[in-house]
Amino acid sequence: MKEKKKLLILGGGYAGVTLIHALKMKNFDITLVNQTPFHIVQTEIHRLLGGAAHEEDIYFDLEEFCEKKGVSFICDKAILINDKVQKVICEHGRELKYDYLVIATGALSLFPHQIENIHAYSKDIKVAQHLKNLENEFQSLLKSKEKEKNIAIIGGGLTGVEIALEYASRLKKLGISATQCSISLIEQFETLLPGSSKELILETHDACDKAGIKRYHGNFVTKIENNNIYLSNNSSIPFSMVIITIGVICEELHFQSEIQKSNKNQFIVDKHLQVKGFENIFAIGDVAYFETDEGSILLPTAQNAKQQAKTLAKNLENIFKNKPTLEYKYKHKGTLVDLAKNEAVGDAFGVQFHGNSAYYLKRTVNAMHTRIFK
Ligand SMILES: Cc1cc2nc3c(=O)[nH]c(=O)nc-3n(C[C@H](O)[C@H](O)[C@H](O)COP(=O)(O)OP(=O)(O)OC[C@H]3O[C@@H](n4cnc5c(N)ncnc54)[C@H](O)[C@@H]3O)c2cc1C
Repeated sequence: MKEKKKLLILGGGYAGVTLIHALKMKNFDITLVNQTPFHIVQTEIHRLLGGAAHEEDIYFDLEEFCEKKGVSFICDKAILINDKVQKVICEHGRELKYDYLVIATGALSLFPHQIENIHAYSKDIKVAQHLKNLENEFQSLLKSKEKEKNIAIIGGGLTGVEIALEYASRLKKLGISATQCSISLIEQFETLLPGSSKELILETHDACDKAGIKRYHGNFVTKIENNNIYLSNNSSIPFSMVIITIGVICEELHFQSEIQKSNKNQFIVDKHLQVKGFENIFAIGDVAYFETDEGSILLPTAQNAKQQAKTLAKNLENIFKNKPTLEYKYKHKGTLVDLAKNEAVGDAFGVQFHGNSAYYLKRTVNAMHTRIFK
């Protein structure tokens, strides 16, 4: 019998936990390292902010998950990959040996320094403590005597739209009118969900308008200061609370050797998800920079992270059995946008979905992910 190989996985997000779930064979001695004790179901974060989901729907215990899967779990932050001696160094001084390494450390929200003073407002919705702080801010806002309150969301992509609509619905349920507390959604392009289909954009605009959300399009944010957001057309929007969702970037994870990275600090991988130049190191999910045969770059989505994890699970088994590895092929299964109040819109498997059916389909997709913790 062949000796078990040490497989070290950094990151217990969508990519990391799906990989563990998909790995069938027992030929690896697997360790998962995650900087927090829990997995965050990021695709439901907007609903947590909007009060439509609870903490138990979002946070899943990684220690428990690993125990069920026969995997060791270490709660620590990887800071350096010493590829020369096949070791990962963690923040708390641990040194972890590996035969195969998978980097699945995801991405954080982007707070570009080109926006003056942005760091004073950089609460990352992907960080549990920041989510708690945002909830506290919301509760304080409800109690404050301030007139004409405004919750501003910068970034009108899927995340920003979903958060704006959930907050609008939450305020309505609390009996707070749009004149008492408004919601502003600011997008630098001419429409929300830039790059999406015309139907999706129109339905989303319509949902925002019906929810009383003020939409600002076509100008970018230049500065945030003294509770004012300044735009490139020299106008400004006063706010009481702000959330910034304008993209993602990966945190720096150092290698001992020289390594090529994308401008978002992602590791550049080949068609087999192998980090270029490193035979036994792989990257999957948001932290991986993957170019398709057509030359397009895959967007950071849970959908892609899970598909990459499943391909890598097969490839690791193939490597162990000395079989050829598969090329990763992304299959876009669709996009569903939550519109709050049990409604959503989008397409899945080439079919358009609206209202209640789209909402339930989105919850089903989510349940298919979270069932791996059961
Ligand atoms: C509000 C919102 C809605 C979204 N909606 C959708 C949607 O509808 N559909 C869709 O496909 N995608 C959606 N996404 C995007 C999706 O959530 C991400 O693409 C997905 O989380 C990426 O998975 P990942 O495993 O690469 O990274 P993550 O899920 O971010 O996981 C990375 C993990 O690594 C850990 N980690 C990071 N650095 C270290 C380190 N140095 N050492 C140890 N551990 C570390 C983190 O704590 C985390 O647990 C949404 C995102 C948000 C925020």
